[in-house]
Amino acid sequence: MIEHVDTAVRGPQAYALAGQALEAMEAAKVWPTPLNYELWLHFISTPDSPLSQEMRRLLEIHTTFTDAVSESLATEFLPRSRLSEEIRDAGVVLNRELAAVAIAIDKAREIQIQYADTLSDAKDQLDQSIPTNPLAELVGMLSKATRRIQRHTVVLEKRLESSHTEVNKLRTHLEQVRRDAMTDALTNLPNRKAFDEKLVALCSSADKTGSIVSLAVVDIDHFKRFNDTWGHQTGDQVLRYVASAIARITTPTRVSARYGGEEFVIAFTDESAVQIENILNTLRVDIASRALRRRSTNDDLGIVTISTGYATRQPEETPFELMERADAALYVSKRSGRNRTTSAEATSKPKVVTTV
Ligand code: GH3
Ligand code: MG
Ligand code: MG
Repeated sequence: MIEHVDTAVRGPQAYALAGQALEAMEAAKVWPTPLNYELWLHFISTPDSPLSQEMRRLLEIHTTFTDAVSESLATEFLPRSRLSEEIRDAGVVLNRELAAVAIAIDKAREIQIQYADTLSDAKDQLDQSIPTNPLAELVGMLSKATRRIQRHTVVLEKRLESSHTEVNKLRTHLEQVRRDAMTDALTNLPNRKAFDEKLVALCSSADKTGSIVSLAVVDIDHFKRFNDTWGHQTGDQVLRYVASAIARITTPTRVSARYGGEEFVIAFTDESAVQIENILNTLRVDIASRALRRRSTNDDLGIVTISTGYATRQPEETPFELMERADAALYVSKRSGRNRTTSAEATSKPKVVTTV
C-alpha cells in the first residue's frame, strides 16, 4: 500500500492527486492538517486499501473527522515516520516538474517564432515574384495560424506560472501547519511532541557520535497558588515571562520546550555538568530577579521562582529513563525548599553499565 502511494506522489500524476486529495478533504469539511492530508492522499491513491475502506465506512455514517479520529486512523493504518517526509518532498518534486515543463514550453515558443518568421519570409518572396500567387495567400494563412498558436502558448505559460504559485502556497501552508503542530501556542516555544522527537534524535545521534546529552526539567514554584491568587490570565503572562527567559538561553546545542502546564525542558549537547549547573542557576536567578506587575492593573505580583533538576545521559540510557532521572532530581529540589537546582548524578549513583 505504501509503495503504491510513494510511486503516486512522485509520479506524473502527483499534482492531480494532491488536488484531488484537497478537494475531497474540502468536500468532507476536513481541515488540511499534514496528518489529514496524509490520510486523504491514501484515500485518493489507494481506494481499496484497508485504510480507505475504513475511511469510506466512517464517511458513510457521517463521522466528523476530528483530530482524535484522524490520529486513531493514523495509529492503526499508517506507518509513521516515512510518509510525512514524502509529502513535504512532494511540493519540491512538483515544482521541479513544472519547471521542466516551463522550459519545454519556452523552447516550443522559440521554434514557433522561427517557423512563423520563415512562413512570413516565404510569403513576402512569393508576393514579390508573382503578385497574385494563390500559394502566397495559403502561406499567409499558415503564418497567421502559427501566430495564433504562439498567443495560445503565452496563455499556457501564464497558467503554468500560476500553478507554480499555487504549489508554493500549498507548500508554505503545509510547512506552517507542521510548525503549528510543533509549537506551543501560549509561549511560542516548541511543544512536547516536538521535544520528544528531538530528544529521541539527539540520543540516537549520541549513540553514533559519542556526544553527551543532558536534560534539565524546569518547574515554576507554587504556580497553583499564583493562579489561585491572581487568576489564570495573569498565570498565563507568567508562563510567557518564564518561557521568554528560557528562550534567551536557547542555542542550537541547547534545545528547549514547554513540556506541559508550568513545566519546561532543556536538552544540552556536549556540555559539562559545571556548565549546565551554571546556566540553570543563571536562569533561575534571572527569573527571580524581577518584580512582576500585572499588566491590566499594575498590581505588584511579587517574584516568581523556578526549581530545576538535570541528568546527564548514561551510555544506552533511553530518553524515558533520562527524563525520569531529571524529574527525580527536580523533585529533590522541590522537597529541599524550591528555587534551586539539583543534579541527578549528585543525588544518586549512576547507572551501572556492565560490559561483556
Ligand atoms: P510546585 O512548586 O510543587 O510545583 O507547586 P505548583 O503549584 O507549581 O504545582 P502544581 O502541579 O500543584 O500546580 C500546577 C499548576 O499549574 C496547576 C494549574 O492550574 C497551573 N497551570 C497548568 N497549565 C497552565 C496554563 O496553561 N495556564 C495557567 N495560567 N496555569 C496553568
Ligand atoms: Mg510547579
Ligand atoms: Mg509541575
